[in-house]
Amino acid sequence: MSVSQYFDTMDYGPAPESDTDARAWLARHSDGFGHFINGAFTPATAGSLFDTNEPATGKPLARITQGTQADVDAAVAAARAAQENWFAIGGHARARHLYALARMVQRHARLFAVVEALDNGKPIRETRDIDVPLVARHFYHHAGWAQLQEREFADQVPVGVIGQIVPWNFPLLMLAWKIAPALALGNTVVLKPAEFTPLSALLFAELAAQAGLPAGVLNVVTGDGATGAAIVAHPDVNKIAFTGSTDVGRLIREKTAGSGKSLTLELGGKSPFIVFDDADIDAAIEGVVDAIWFNQGQVCCAGARLLVQEGIAQDFYARLKRRMGMLRAGTPLDKTIDIGSLIAPSQHERVRKLVEIGVKEGATCYQPDISMPVGGSYFPPTLLTNVHPASTVASEEIFGPVLVAMTFRTHDEALAIANNSRYGLAASVWSETIGLALAVAPALKAGVVWINSTNLFDAGVGFGGVRESGFGREGGREGCYEYLKPRAWAKRVARSAAVKPVAAIVDSVAASARLPLVDRTAKLYVGGKQARSDGEQSLGIFGANGKLAGEVGLGNRKDIRNAVAAAHAAASWSATTPHRRAQALYYLAENLSARAEEFAARLVELTGVSADAASNEVEQSISRLFAYGAWADKYEGAVHVPPMRGVALAMVEPIGVVGVVCPDESPLLAFVSLVAPLLAMGNRVVIVPSSRHALIATDFYQVLETSDLPGGVINIVTGAAATLLPTLAEHDDVDALWTFGDAALSATTERLSTGNLKRTLVDYGLATDWNDALSAEGPAWLRHATQIKNVWVPYGE
Ligand code: NAD
Repeated sequence: MSVSQYFDTMDYGPAPESDTDARAWLARHSDGFGHFINGAFTPATAGSLFDTNEPATGKPLARITQGTQADVDAAVAAARAAQENWFAIGGHARARHLYALARMVQRHARLFAVVEALDNGKPIRETRDIDVPLVARHFYHHAGWAQLQEREFADQVPVGVIGQIVPWNFPLLMLAWKIAPALALGNTVVLKPAEFTPLSALLFAELAAQAGLPAGVLNVVTGDGATGAAIVAHPDVNKIAFTGSTDVGRLIREKTAGSGKSLTLELGGKSPFIVFDDADIDAAIEGVVDAIWFNQGQVCCAGARLLVQEGIAQDFYARLKRRMGMLRAGTPLDKTIDIGSLIAPSQHERVRKLVEIGVKEGATCYQPDISMPVGGSYFPPTLLTNVHPASTVASEEIFGPVLVAMTFRTHDEALAIANNSRYGLAASVWSETIGLALAVAPALKAGVVWINSTNLFDAGVGFGGVRESGFGREGGREGCYEYLKPRAWAKRVARSAAVKPVAAIVDSVAASARLPLVDRTAKLYVGGKQARSDGEQSLGIFGANGKLAGEVGLGNRKDIRNAVAAAHAAASWSATTPHRRAQALYYLAENLSARAEEFAARLVELTGVSADAASNEVEQSISRLFAYGAWADKYEGAVHVPPMRGVALAMVEPIGVVGVVCPDESPLLAFVSLVAPLLAMGNRVVIVPSSRHALIATDFYQVLETSDLPGGVINIVTGAAATLLPTLAEHDDVDALWTFGDAALSATTERLSTGNLKRTLVDYGLATDWNDALSAEGPAWLRHATQIKNVWVPYGE
C-alpha cells in the first residue's frame, strides 16, 4: 500500500515485531526440550516428546518432553536436596538472587515477550507492556520480602518443597506469581507449565541458571495433566499451589486430602462488571474492552458478565457495539492488534459451542464486521444481550472473548445478580458516586474489586478468590503467608494414642441405657435458644471415674442443617463493628469468670485433672477471650500504593459460616480457642464440641445466654463428629471447616470439603498445646478466620 492509500483508508499498516531471537533460541533446542532439573536440561528422549503449536498458525513450534513419574521423582529429589541450604543462606542472599532474576527478566524482556506471544497467541502489545513488566515487578517486590523475612516473618518457617502447576493463559506471569514468593521465603520449587505453553518457563529456567540461581532451587517438569497428577501425589512435596480450572482444582483437593500437604487454589471465575447509571460511560466502555477482550477473554478474572442499569442499557450497548467495530484482530506479533488467537482449536470449539447454547437459550448475538485472520484459532469479539441470569452462558465460565450482558434496576438487584454465581474471583464497579461504589464493594462476593477500573494487578496487592474460585492469595504480605507456616505449629506432635477414640464413646451410649436415668439432658443450642435434638436421642457423657456424668442431645443431620440455617440468618454479625464484637467477647469472658468454679469442677469431673489444672484451664480460657476481644478491633487491613494513581484497600473480611469440630484435650480451652478468633473476625459458627466431654460445652449455654451475642452467631450441636461432619462438610452454606482430632477426621474434612471448595483448617492428628499462647492464639488463627478483599480505587480526573 502507498502512503496516500493509507491516508485514504486511515487503516493501520502492519507493524510486526521481529521473532529472530526467539526463533534462534528455539532452533538451539530443535532436538526437543528436556526438563530443567537440578540446574540443567535433561536429555530429550525420542518417544517421550510431543509438539507444542503456534496458536496463530497451528504450526508446530517446539518439541516438549512428557514428564514421567521418574522425572517428577528426580525433580522433587533435587528440590529437597537444595531446600535446607537455600533457606540457610538467609534472607539477604535470597534477596540478591531474586533481584538478579528481576534484572534477568528485564534484560531479556523482548525475547520473553516474543516467545510468550508465539506460544500463547496473545498480542505482543500485551506480553510486552503487561505480562513481562509485571513479572519483573513480582521479582523485585519479593526480593524485598526475602530481605525482610527474618524481621517480618520471624515466627514463621518455610513450607519446604512446593509443587506448582500453572495454566496456559498467562504462562510466564503465573510462573512469576508462583515462584517469586516461594523462593523468596526459602522454599524450593517443582513447577509444571501447561502443556500448551511450556516455552517461557523453560526459557526462564535456563536464564535463571545463567543468572546464578543455585541448582535444584527451581525445577521445571513439562507434560500434561498426568505429570501434574504425579507432582500432586508425590509424598515428598509439602505444598501444592495450583492455578487452573475449578474441576482440576477440586480433583487436587480430593487427591491431597489427609496428606498433610498445604494447598492453594486459584481457579475459574465469572466476574461481574457492574455499570451504574451515573458512571462515566465512555470510560466504562473502555473498561469493558479491557475486561473481556484482553487476552481474548482467556482471563480467570475477566469481566464476563456485564450488568448495566436499565435506564442506560440501550445507549451503552450501542456505544459498545461501535467500539467493538474498531477492535483489530491479527497476528500476535503485530504491534497494532487488539485481539490475537485463542490457545487451540479445542478452546475455539468450546467457545463456539457455548455461544451457540446462549443463542438457543434466547440470547441475541452481536459480532462486529471486522476482518478476522484465517488459520489459527481466531474468534471474533462477541456480545450476548437478552441473557437471562439463569441461562448457561450467564453462569458457565466461557474463557473466550464473549461478553454476556444483563440489566438491573436497583442497587440491591445489581448485587443479587452479581453474587448469583458459584464463583467469586473479581468484580468491577462503575459509578461516579464514590459512596455508592465503596458501599457496593464490601457486599460483593469476590476476592478483588476494581472501582472504575478493571484487570489491575500488582505484586504488592493480593489476588485470589472466594467460593469456587478457590482459596489463598498471591501477591503482597498475604501471599507470603501461603509459603510459610508458624514455627510453633511445626513443633506439634501426634496426639497421644491413650485418648479414647470417639467411636468408643458413641458405642458406650448403649451402655448408658442400662444405667439409672439421670434427670437432666442438655439440649442443643441453635439460633440463640436451647433446642431438643431432632432424633430425640441422647448421648451419655462419662466422667474420668467411668461414671455417667450426664447426657447430651445426640444431634443428627437435621440438627446440623437447622444450625447452619440459624448461622446463615445471623449475617448481621459479619457486618457489625469490630468494637461491638470486642465488647461481646469481653462480656463472654466476664460471664465465664463469674462461673469459674463451676467450670473448674466440671473439668475435674470430666477429665480427671487436678483442681489446680482445672482452674488454670478456666483462667486461660478467660484470658483467651480477652485476647480475641483485644484483636477484634486491631487485626486490620492495609492501604497499598501500587504503581498507579490510586490505592488498593486490603480489607479483612470474615469467611462467613464456619463449622468447627473440637478436640478432646483441654475441652474448655480448646473450644474457646477455636470459637473466639472466628467470632472476633465476624464469622458465625456451628460447633460440634468434643463428644467425650460435651457437657463442658452445654454448660457454656448459660454463659452464652447471659451474653449479648445475637442468636445464631454461635450454634452448638452435640453428638458424634463422625456422623455430623459429613453434613457440615457437604452443606453449601458452610464456607469453611475447622476440625481438630485424629488424622482420619482431617482426611475426611478435606475430602468432603470439595463440593463448594470450602477452606479447611485441620491438624492431621497433631496436638496443639492449647496452654501455649504462641501456638494456640493470635494472628495465625486470625488469618485462617478471615480472607482479604482488595478494593482498587484509582483517583484523579
Ligand atoms: P486446567 O485446569 O485444565 O489446567 C491447568 C494446569 O493443570 C495445566 O498445567 C494442566 O496440565 C494441569 N492439570 C490438568 N489435569 C491435572 C491433574 N489431574 N492433576 C494435576 N494437574 C493437572 O486449566 P487450563 O484450561 O489450563 O486453564 C484455564 C483455567 O485456569 C480457567 O478456568 C481459568 O479461570 C483458570 N485460571 C485461574 C487463575 C486464577 O488466578 N484464579 C488464573 C489463570 C487461570
